[in-house]
Amino acid sequence: MGTRRSPLPWTPLVIAEERCKGCELCVAACPKRVLALDHGHVNVLGYHPVSLTEAARCTSCAFCARVCPDAVFTVWAAPREERSQ
Ligand code: SF4
Ligand code: SF4
Repeated sequence: MGTRRSPLPWTPLVIAEERCKGCELCVAACPKRVLALDHGHVNVLGYHPVSLTEAARCTSCAFCARVCPDAVFTVWAAPREERSQ
C-alpha cells in the first residue's frame, strides 16, 4: 500500500455510498447541516445513501465519520493554501 493522498480536485469528504444504510446518524451530527439522504438514488443495499449537499460549508470536523457505524466517510483537511485564505 502506498501513501494515501487527498483526492484531486480536493473534496472534504469521500462517501462510500455503497456501504450507507441511511440511518441518518451523520445527518444529525453534522453541525453545518450539509448532509442529507439522496432520495433520488438507491444504493446496492437498497437504501437512500447520504450525500454532501454543500461541500464549501463542510469544515472537515469529522463528526459524521465518528458517528457512522459503517465507516462510510473518509474526511480530508483542506490543503494548506486553502486554509490560509
Ligand atoms: S466533516 Fe463535519 S461539517 Fe463536514 S459533513 Fe462531516 S460533520 Fe458535517
Ligand atoms: S451514519 Fe453512516 S450509515 Fe448512517 S446515514 Fe450516515 S453515512 Fe449512512
